[in-house]
Amino acid sequence: MICILLFVAGATYLIFAGQRDQITQEVLSELVLMNNIEQNVLSQQIENFQRRTIDFSSDGFIRDMAKEIIATKNKKDIELLNLHLRKNKLPLEPNIYGINILDEKGTIIASTDDGEIGRDESKDAYYTRSELSYGTAFVSDFESMNHFKKNVVALAFVAPLTDKQTGERIGGLMSFVEADQVVSALNQQEKLLTGTEEALESMRTFVVSKDDFVVSGQYMDGASLTKKVAIGSILQCGRKVGYTNAEGVVSVGVASCMDNGWTVVTEKSQADALAPIMDTGTNIMYLMATLLLLILIIMYLLNRNIVDPIELLSRSAKKIGEGDMEVYTDIASHDELGDLSIAFNEMALRLRNSHRFLAARIREVTENFEKFKLAVEAASDHIIITDKDGFILYANRSAEMITGYTQQEMIGNRPSLWGKQMPTEFYRNMWRTIKEEKKIFTGEITNKRKNGQLYIAEIHIAPLFDEQGELYGFVGLERDITRQKEIDTAKTEFVSIASHQLRTPLTIINWYIEMLETTAGAPLSDKQKEYLSEIDRASHRMIELVNALLNVSRIDLGTFMVDIEPLDFALAMDDVLKDLGPQIAKKKLRIAKEYDAQLPQISADPKLLRMIFQNLLTNAVKYTPDEGTVTVGLKKQDRRVRITVADTGIGIPKEQQAKIFEKFFRADNARIKEPDGNGLGLYIIKSLIEHSGGTIAFTSKEDAGTTFVIEMPLIGMKKKEGTRPLAV
Ligand code: ADP
Repeated sequence: MICILLFVAGATYLIFAGQRDQITQEVLSELVLMNNIEQNVLSQQIENFQRRTIDFSSDGFIRDMAKEIIATKNKKDIELLNLHLRKNKLPLEPNIYGINILDEKGTIIASTDDGEIGRDESKDAYYTRSELSYGTAFVSDFESMNHFKKNVVALAFVAPLTDKQTGERIGGLMSFVEADQVVSALNQQEKLLTGTEEALESMRTFVVSKDDFVVSGQYMDGASLTKKVAIGSILQCGRKVGYTNAEGVVSVGVASCMDNGWTVVTEKSQADALAPIMDTGTNIMYLMATLLLLILIIMYLLNRNIVDPIELLSRSAKKIGEGDMEVYTDIASHDELGDLSIAFNEMALRLRNSHRFLAARIREVTENFEKFKLAVEAASDHIIITDKDGFILYANRSAEMITGYTQQEMIGNRPSLWGKQMPTEFYRNMWRTIKEEKKIFTGEITNKRKNGQLYIAEIHIAPLFDEQGELYGFVGLERDITRQKEIDTAKTEFVSIASHQLRTPLTIINWYIEMLETTAGAPLSDKQKEYLSEIDRASHRMIELVNALLNVSRIDLGTFMVDIEPLDFALAMDDVLKDLGPQIAKKKLRIAKEYDAQLPQISADPKLLRMIFQNLLTNAVKYTPDEGTVTVGLKKQDRRVRITVADTGIGIPKEQQAKIFEKFFRADNARIKEPDGNGLGLYIIKSLIEHSGGTIAFTSKEDAGTTFVIEMPLIGMKKKEGTRPLAV
C-alpha cells in the first residue's frame, strides 16, 4: 500500500516537475519578449529625446542668438532666447523639463529657467565630450541632477551648437528628462501590453544604470538612486530562473544589456511565474491527500475486516501450537472470515476436549507406568530390557546389585559385560531360541560379577514384540541361585557320603544272609527260610536304593565318569533281556524284537548303556500284566539311533505324565500294582541320555501301554573324565 502511495507520489512529482519546467520556459519566453519590447521602447524614447535635442540644437534662431550672446552678453538677447526656448521648444516635448544653452567653456548662457544662467557646467563630463559633433546627441547616465530648481534623478541629452555659417562649435544645448518619466513610460508600456494578459500581470521591468543603480520609482529618493544591483553578475545579460532579486524575492528574469551600459531587466517572482502550476501542484497535493486518506481508509477497513481477523486467527493458531488450548476468536463479521472463526472455535473446542482427555490418559498411563517401574525397580530379581541386538536399554536395581555394575555402566552395553563364562554353544542356542525361534529361553548360567566373582543364575529371556508383531527387544530375568546351588550340592554330597557309608553294612548283611542260607550248621526250618528270604529281598532292595541314591548324587555333582568303547546295541539289549528271562517267563510275556540289521557299532559306556536298557526293560516287564507283549526296537534314523521299548502294560495316568522324570516320583497305579520301586531309575537314565547328546520321550495310555523312545547320535556317548563310576 505504501509502495503504491510512493509510486503515485513519485509519478506525480515527475509530472509536476515536467510541467513546472515547461511553464518556466514559457514564462521565460514571455519575459524575453517583454524585455525586447521594453528595450525597444526605452531605445525609442532615448532616441526620441536625442532627436529632439539635436532638433533644438539645429534651430537657427538658437544658434544665432547663442553666438550673439557669447559675443555680446546682451541681456535682451538672453531674454529673447530664454523665451524662445520656453515658448517654442519646451512645449514640443512635455517630457523634457528644461533646456540649457551653454557656451564653449561650459557656462550656461541661456535657459528655460533664468535661475540657471551663469552656472558653470564645465565639470560635467558629458558636456565636455570631444566626440560630439553636429547632428549627434550624447545621453548621460541616470544621475542626480540639480537644475531648474529641481533636484531629481534625470537624464541629460547634450547636442553641440555650431555656427550656421562656419560650422564651428560655439557651445552646447542640454535637455533634461526626469528618470521618472522614462520609467513611467516603460511602466505604461508594460501596462498597455500586460493589462489583458493574466500571465504577464506580475511582470516588472526596470532599468539598471551603468553604475548598477536600479532606476525605478521605488528606489529613487528624490535626487538619489538608493538601490544598487550587480545585475551584470546575476543575470549576465541573459535569462535566469530562481535567483534572488533586488527585493530579496526569488525570481525568474531576463536582462538585456544595452550598448550604453544600461541593462533592461524584466522579471517576475518565481511564485507568480509558477502560480498556475502551483495551483496544479496544490490540486495534486489535495489529490494526493485525498488519495492518501482513501488508501488509509481502505487500509483501515482491510485491517479491521481482513488483516486483523487473520492476525487474530494466526495468533490463536500459534497459541494452540504452543499448547495453550484456552483460545477463542471473537470475529463477528458475517463473511467467510466469520465462518472461519466459528469453525476455528469449534476446532479449538474439540482440540481442548481431546487435549484434556489425552492429558488425563497420559497422567493415568504415567502413573501406571511409574507404579510398574517402581515394582520392576524394587524386584529382587535382576531385570534388564535390551534392544533386538542385545544392547541394554534398562536395568533395575537388583541387576546392579547382582552384577556389581551401575545402571550407567550397563545401559548401552551388552549382557556379555558380566557373561562370557559359558561355552559358545550355550549362547548360540540361547540366541537361536530367542531371536530366530522367538521363544522364551530358560536355563542356568554362570556369570561373573564386576569384582570377578562367579555366580550361578537361573535365566529367563523373553522376546518383546511391538504392535505390528515385530521383534524390538528382549526382557531378561536372572535369579542368583548360587547359594541354593551350594546348598543343593551340600545335600547331594551328604546323600553321596551317606549312601556310600550305607553300602558297607548292607554288603555285610548280604554276606551273612548268604552264609546263613548255605553254611548254617543246623538245617533251617521252613519258617526260618521264609524269614531269611524276606530279609534277603529287603536287603537287596536297600542296596538297589542306596546304589540309586549314590548314582543320583554322582550325576547331580557331575562326578561320574563315562568310559566309552564301540558297542553292539543289539547284543547289549539281548543281554539285559536274558537277565530278565525268569521274570518274563514267569509273567508269560511275549518279547518282540525289531532290530535294524544295518545298525553299526556305537561308542558308549557299557555300564551306562546297560543301566539305560535295564531300566526301560525292567519297567516294561514290571508294569505289564501277565501275557502281555514287550516290543524292543533298535533303528538307525539319519545320524541317530532310535531305541524303543513299548509294552501293553498299565500305562501312566495322563495327569501324572509330566512328573515322570522327577526324582522319587512314582505314578499312583504303579505304587498299587508294584510296591517295589524307588522312582529314581528314569531320572538317572534321562540325565545320562541327555549328557550323551540324546533325548528321551514317551507316549502312554492308562491300561493300554507305554512306549519309551530314546534317540542318540550315531557318534555315540561323549567320554567324560570323572572321579567315580556309577554303581550298578
Ligand atoms: P520305579 O520303576 O522304580 O518306580 P522308575 O524311575 O523306573 O522307578 O519309574 C518311575 C515311574 O514311572 C514308575 O514308578 C511308574 O509309575 C512309571 N513307569 C515307568 N515305566 C513304566 C511303564 N513301562 N509302564 C507304566 N509305568 C511306568
